[in-house]
Amino acid sequence: MNPIYEQMETSVFARMSALAADHKAVNLGQGFPDFGWPDAILDKAADALRHGSNQYAPSRGTPELRDAIAGHYGRWFGQELNSDHVCVTSGATEALGACILAAISPGDEVIIFTPAYDSYAPMIRRAGGVVREIALRPPEWRIDAVALQAAIGPRTRAILFNNPHNPTGRLFDAAELQAVADAATAYDLIVISDEVWEHILLDGQTFTPLASLPGMAERTLKVGSAGKIFSLTGWKVGWIVADPALADVAARAHQFLTFATAPNLQSAVAFGLAEGDRWIAPMQQRFARARDRMVQGLQAAGYAVLPAASSYFLCVDLPASEIAVDDETFAAVAVERAGVAVVPVSPFAEQDPVRTIVRLCFGKRDDTIDAGVAAMARAK
Ligand code: PMP
Ligand code: GLN
Repeated sequence: MNPIYEQMETSVFARMSALAADHKAVNLGQGFPDFGWPDAILDKAADALRHGSNQYAPSRGTPELRDAIAGHYGRWFGQELNSDHVCVTSGATEALGACILAAISPGDEVIIFTPAYDSYAPMIRRAGGVVREIALRPPEWRIDAVALQAAIGPRTRAILFNNPHNPTGRLFDAAELQAVADAATAYDLIVISDEVWEHILLDGQTFTPLASLPGMAERTLKVGSAGKIFSLTGWKVGWIVADPALADVAARAHQFLTFATAPNLQSAVAFGLAEGDRWIAPMQQRFARARDRMVQGLQAAGYAVLPAASSYFLCVDLPASEIAVDDETFAAVAVERAGVAVVPVSPFAEQDPVRTIVRLCFGKRDDTIDAGVAAMARAK
């Protein structure tokens, strides 16, 4: 069997969720909300399941959903898109896989910013690529333009960028976006821009799609996810949005990964995006309340929490919380003895991992947050 998979560990999300189940712990590890999905979208899916198509959808997505995605980004970010820019996938994870397979040839180098979402490095490697890590450091997790330029060499083909960033919860600022765009345009790189958290912004921040920067539309493959926008992570409906020339190639990779995505869920997501403008602001406010509740509880229990205003993740700084053990040790103790699962951040990098931070998901109901915070107090 292939050594990449033979030597690979189980994903940290699956590992921590299994431990949470084993120990009947509150699961603040794997990122999924336990509230917040709009009932109208569920009704639409149920209706489509009963009365719509249950056969293969078109490989690139239903015309209805492709139009809805293009229209959504036009309304939100002023992008001029149409259905030719869109390929619907089975979650952002598949979109990332298709983009990586489509963009990279054996020996090509791909830059990622660590800690990085866990599917990036294995997919790049399996596509024959070489991973170049640029380490971001807490508490700022800033992209350094000089380090980025220094990482680029003759074999560099692509940057895999993630904004807002998981696991740190950072929204990169205009200067950092410009640094990525400058590097990509100067060295003629493709950028796969994982923007699944684009709408989970809590303190009135605004999101800028990387493709909207000068020179970037023709070189950016954007990845999005309905799972995040509508708090329906199990649906696994995602998409690639790119210039048609790039989208066409990614769509060819996609056709032999999954071929197509459930038509009834596509129909419900199309409805959701068309109506989405009325759900997004209340969702942001609801997540902000959840964040405030968890931050207050953790601080009262003596934890140092890094700023958290995008995605539904927050980072706890262990040394600043006067905890001397590393992230993996803390996570093991927390789930086994205190009854709360968190995610250690060190598995998100290979070369220079940060071992002082654990990530918690605050996208939870008040009772889940209170139980999680009480368990965190016991873990101290
Ligand atoms: N990219 C990032 C940065 C994510 O955080 C996630 C899910 N948490 C994904 C991709 C995967 O999204 P999906 O569930 O739609 O496959
Ligand atoms: N994306 C989710 C997270 O960051 C987990 C997804 C998964 O379990 N693969 O927690």
